[in-house]
Amino acid sequence: MARTLRQAGFETWCVGGAVRDALLGEAHLDWDLATAATPTQVRKLFRRTVPVGIEFGTIGVFDRDHRMHEVTTFRRDVKTDGRHAVVEFGASLDEDLARRDFTINAIAYDPIDHRLHDPFGGQVDLTRRVVRAVGDAEARLREDRLRALRAIRFAARFGFDIDHDTWQAIVGSAPFLTRLSPERVKQELEKTMAQVLAPSTAFVRWRDAGAFASLVPTLAHIDTRTLRAIDALPRPGLLGRPLRKTLRFAALFSEAGGKQTERALRDLRFSNQDIANVSALVDRWSRYAPTLTEMLSEGTLPDDAGLRRLAAGVGRLRVAAFVRLAAARWSAAGAVQPSLVRRLHRRIITMAFREPIELADLAVDGDDLRSAGIATGPALGRTLHALLQVVIENPALNSREALLKIARTHEPPSETDCRSA
Ligand code: ATP
Ligand code: MG
Repeated sequence: MARTLRQAGFETWCVGGAVRDALLGEAHLDWDLATAATPTQVRKLFRRTVPVGIEFGTIGVFDRDHRMHEVTTFRRDVKTDGRHAVVEFGASLDEDLARRDFTINAIAYDPIDHRLHDPFGGQVDLTRRVVRAVGDAEARLREDRLRALRAIRFAARFGFDIDHDTWQAIVGSAPFLTRLSPERVKQELEKTMAQVLAPSTAFVRWRDAGAFASLVPTLAHIDTRTLRAIDALPRPGLLGRPLRKTLRFAALFSEAGGKQTERALRDLRFSNQDIANVSALVDRWSRYAPTLTEMLSEGTLPDDAGLRRLAAGVGRLRVAAFVRLAAARWSAAGAVQPSLVRRLHRRIITMAFREPIELADLAVDGDDLRSAGIATGPALGRTLHALLQVVIENPALNSREALLKIARTHEPPSETDCRSA
């Protein structure tokens, strides 16, 4: 691809993340190219192209293995407003590299003659393991506030430090981060969760820089231990992708309570599905964590009825995720014996899937109660709930005869009783 462009007379280089990752010894499948050719010229040279971002000069070109590579015309920024830039073509490679965010992302590689072009010292920073802005940090972060969050993500992803001036510029950017669109912020959070093995190292910096205070106020003072729970969750590969994301976000918000979490995720434009999954877990954690943590740190597990009550409160399909979240929190706090957590896990899963803990598990349903003349209307629901409580305490009573008998002898509490209780 680079050869085709070069043979047509256009200077062409590999740039960006792929060069950085290759120098770090990591394989990268999507090589991006920067070229002197204009988008129109690029489209003439290749058969299969897609206009990925024509106005910024980016054309997607497919290689023989049907992989898409971004081919972008050398460009310079002529105007910036804290996020969007107006770009101009006809720039040189050096100008193109100068508009990139960090030195480690501003190294060019010539795939034909195998040489590197690195005018900003990106290789030195890769060896020193620092993220450093290209040029004047304060000015570069002012041009595009997203760079503050990108710097933190790259540093956490590679276990790098952040250069002193760049860090000062990140701190200085924090009050202005509110100008980023919620979608962008959500994307940064998601990329951090997906790319960084130990996300707490990124989020400690979000907190310390003041990024949480600006963007997710409920996390402004989150403590490091809570953040470490994210790292303590099972490694990727052990969990499916959606579950891993739900758990990572639930750990991040685990001290915020269900309501605050719901609000924060809604403000960040998370999907309804994500909001429901994450905030339900956080809600159950805040409800059950105090007693459960106390019991387990004293070395005891709830008895069978206690485990059934817990499983019923958490919800059968959430039990596994709940225990993983709890295990991560306890492991980060060093509060509970891991062997005890494993026992809790085994036993509560067994309970949740073998024993009656939900209305649908009862040996009687509303129709049974109605046709036996026991209850109608709103009383019906109250009776069923009361029967479920009985069965959770003693599953042996979950038979039709036993439950009908109980329902007949025990009048369900009336609405007024409930209120006065
Ligand atoms: P990843 O592996 O996460 O994709 P990447 O370095 O390829 O990392 P991208 O977001 O794909 O990151 O961007 C590609 C390149 O474009 C970067 O390496 C950088 O040179 C440049 N770039 C991207 N975003 C910005 C930005 N906001 N400001 C300046 N340069 C940027
Ligand atoms: Mg990339």
